[in-house]
Amino acid sequence: MSKTNLLNNCYDKFVTEDIIKIMKRNDIIQELSEYFDIKELVCPHTYAKHKEASWQFLDTDWLHCLLIIRRDILKAPMTCNNGSNYTQRGLRCNVCELVKGKSNNYLSAHMFGKAGDFTVKGMTAEQAREKIKENADLLPCNIRIEGGVSWLHFDTMNQWGIVDKVYEFRV
Ligand SMILES: [Zn+2]
Ligand SMILES: [Zn+2]
Repeated sequence: MSKTNLLNNCYDKFVTEDIIKIMKRNDIIQELSEYFDIKELVCPHTYAKHKEASWQFLDTDWLHCLLIIRRDILKAPMTCNNGSNYTQRGLRCNVCELVKGKSNNYLSAHMFGKAGDFTVKGMTAEQAREKIKENADLLPCNIRIEGGVSWLHFDTMNQWGIVDKVYEFRV
């Protein structure tokens, strides 16, 4: 069924709004698939179990920001997980090395499908962060970036008390 037919058949406002949201998410994933394989954005444990359905664990706002950053802001190849030395730079699950040994409270945005660490081709992480700050208006929601590290970390965790469009934090 075409988008128009589907919308014409929905007379309930709320149902229509839900469908628009689902379509928007699907469009984002479809466009992102041109730049990223889902295998790169989740840990190997998640991919082994859920394959393509692993997209379901990634937050819509985060996926939307990733698309805007890759396609419209940095306009350069971005590497998250590469299947060899990088495996925990996107979604992390409870059996990931960085997570399973923790005995303290650990609520990284990486565990909520709202974060990724990237290497950007042709620029340093600092240059990538600067470009994102300069183009903050293009982003659909607020993001956090990690300052002072050699990789580009960005996440869409909703920050308590912070209203900056691009908020740089340091651990
Ligand atoms: Zn894992
Ligand atoms: Zn990170």
